[in-house]
Amino acid sequence: MVKSILIVDDSPVARMIMKKCLPESLGITIIEAKNGQEGVEKYQQHQPDLTFMDLTMPVMDGFTALSLIKAINPQAVVVVATADIQEKVLQRVEDLGALLTLKKPPSKQALADALKRAKEALAQVRS
Ligand SMILES: [Mg+2]
Repeated sequence: MVKSILIVDDSPVARMIMKKCLPESLGITIIEAKNGQEGVEKYQQHQPDLTFMDLTMPVMDGFTALSLIKAINPQAVVVVATADIQEKVLQRVEDLGALLTLKKPPSKQALADALKRAKEALAQVRS
């Protein structure tokens, strides 16, 4: 079950689109952070089930935030959401432990698929 989602993105519009596209958003607690540093702090505070992580952000980028979150909780489920899906970017975030990468802006279907994958990953962690 995904009960809480942390959305880390410096663009308020991107965060809004993400929230709007989340299915069954009823009952899911959404936490927002506007850069990587805030994202890591809010991760620590709220221990969300799932984190959506932008890559290009001021103060601290998503690569750094992803690796810090994975250091806090190696089983953290993090989905990277980025417009830049070059192979080397995909490889780097995979190496850092991201579950998968979504191309921004994500479609409802892509988000639904990501949620499904996240639920499977969480079920594995918790079994
Ligand atoms: Mg950005």
